[in-house]
Amino acid sequence: MEVKELYRQILGIEEPWRVSQVERIDVKVVHDENMRWPCPECGELLTVYDHAPERVWRHLDTCQFKTYLHARIPRVDCPVHGVRQVKVSWAEAHSRFTVLFERLAIGVLKEANIEGAARLLRVSWDEAWNLMERAVRRGQRRKKGRVVKKMGVDEKSLGKGHNYLTLVYDLGEARVEYIADDRRRESLGGYFSLLSLAQREEIEAIATDIWDPYLASIREHVPGAEEKLVFDRYHLMTHLVQAVDKVRFIFTKNYLNWLKNRISASTSS
Ligand SMILES: [Zn+2]
Repeated sequence: MEVKELYRQILGIEEPWRVSQVERIDVKVVHDENMRWPCPECGELLTVYDHAPERVWRHLDTCQFKTYLHARIPRVDCPVHGVRQVKVSWAEAHSRFTVLFERLAIGVLKEANIEGAARLLRVSWDEAWNLMERAVRRGQRRKKGRVVKKMGVDEKSLGKGHNYLTLVYDLGEARVEYIADDRRRESLGGYFSLLSLAQREEIEAIATDIWDPYLASIREHVPGAEEKLVFDRYHLMTHLVQAVDKVRFIFTKNYLNWLKNRISASTSS
């Protein structure tokens, strides 16, 4: 069925009217009045205090149209925790996407670089980055540390007037393993602290910029750090940084092999 006809039928549009265009789908959701809502902190059931301004979440496309969910989230006034916004079932706090959209996005991000994922999902580069960042952070909250035998450490500037992020890459699997705020010693230390001493011993090589806080953290946490550090700034990190700038978190196989060889060469010499 043609989409205009579909929407004509869904909307019950009758002659002399017809649907001329369907651009995007906006769905508004509201809740029953007199509902009691759990405080997001303690779960105590409370009446509505007020509503936050309307928010919009991108949802899975409907018939190839971008689809948005609109709602005003109720706030409760908990005697213990004060005025809080309640949780909604369709999205995580602070996300501009529904859970179902995020799940799709993570699947796409596993198969494509950020640029490609942004194109496929029809989101901006920043939004795709943000979806990846949230997924990595969620993952690292859940799991214990995983040893990255060939790791890359890099900083990422968040743009004008913003702070930095510290990124730990798994160069073997070509993915972002860990993200922390700032680029301090503790930023990187957060990753190492997820690992046992035995795990930290398993780290074979660390490619990093010559940035004192990172070096201090590596020397503090990684046994035999001096032999494992790879400061091939111009031939290695620059390439990695460029690759990241080009948004290739999933590097091509050749590039990856080249990178591994560089590390092997630096560590064996
Ligand atoms: Zn509470």
